[in-house]
Amino acid sequence: MHGGGRRRELLILPGASRSRQYHRGIDTKAPSTSPQDTARRARVLTGYRPTGPLHIGHWFGNILNMRKLQDEHDAFFFIADWHMLTTDYDRTELLPERIRGLVLDWLAAGIDPAKATVYRQSDVPEVAELALLLGMITPLGWLERVPTYKERLRDLAERDIANYGLLGYPLLQTTDITIVKGELVPVGEDQVSHLEISREIVRRFNRLYGPVLVEPQPLLSESPLIPGSDGRKMSKSLDNFIGVSDEPDEITAKVRTFITDPKKIRLGDPGRPEICPIFTLQRLFSPPDHVAWIDANCRSGALGCVEDKLDLAGRIVEYYRPFRERRAELERTPEIVDEVLAEGAAKVRPVVEETMKAVRRAMNLA
Ligand code: SF4
Repeated sequence: MHGGGRRRELLILPGASRSRQYHRGIDTKAPSTSPQDTARRARVLTGYRPTGPLHIGHWFGNILNMRKLQDEHDAFFFIADWHMLTTDYDRTELLPERIRGLVLDWLAAGIDPAKATVYRQSDVPEVAELALLLGMITPLGWLERVPTYKERLRDLAERDIANYGLLGYPLLQTTDITIVKGELVPVGEDQVSHLEISREIVRRFNRLYGPVLVEPQPLLSESPLIPGSDGRKMSKSLDNFIGVSDEPDEITAKVRTFITDPKKIRLGDPGRPEICPIFTLQRLFSPPDHVAWIDANCRSGALGCVEDKLDLAGRIVEYYRPFRERRAELERTPEIVDEVLAEGAAKVRPVVEETMKAVRRAMNLA
């Protein structure tokens, strides 16, 4: 673990003004909220494993939603570095750079520490304490029946990851939510069941020791399926992604490798945009009238795939230009990362301490 001994107090920023300067020119819509406003809003929590640079799938699946959440809720965003260890415990040398990169990505993308509490999981050691306590009351069968455990073992069969850490992943997730009194957790419709085990653990705790923990509810959020170059879901592990901080040449080269309608071989052949990953991306990056034009001209055969791909690549390059520029600017002040994490750790600390006091008291441990 790293970062646990940072001198947080010395790095705490004076109010929100310093944080705001990370976001010059970013359209994050609503103004920052007052503490009174925040008190009326439901607390929403989402975590992010530091797996490497953000790609377009993350952007449309998570980042845009997080920007909305920070305007509409009492948002807690954390970097789940302990969760990373469940599969990458033998690659911890990658963690510092990945965490740093993720903080810079978030800031450049418009995540605002003046609106949301942005912190790192390992800066909250009480998470380990509560995970241990919840582990005492969580039946093994509940963990074993979570499908993600077996899926991960299957997907990463070449790795030695059949450890307690991976099996206990849902328990750690429950801890992350409950230790900050998270009321809402953003999930896609297909992930509602993933939250059920957390709700069950909380209910069991509250039955045994009294109503101490908040039972989280799912917050259904849209997460469009973003195809990668091979037509499957865009993902780093499939190496079919376009990174949001990729350089323009890299973006163009990657877009060129995307599959299209296999029946449209040359200019003049009619195509089927509805099965084409390039068309799916055009719908995200182009205005509706241009999308309609592509649809019509692909079907008639007048539009060729090479022309369409180059058009898309140019739009992606332009869309992420402000992001790339902001990120480059942030890179020039690397101490920002430590400042943001220190500020977040200081903000989350009183919440965590309150929860842990109540938990210890309820379990006769204090
Ligand atoms: S013209 Fe465009 S939408 Fe049509 S198949 Fe080719 S890349 Fe896809």
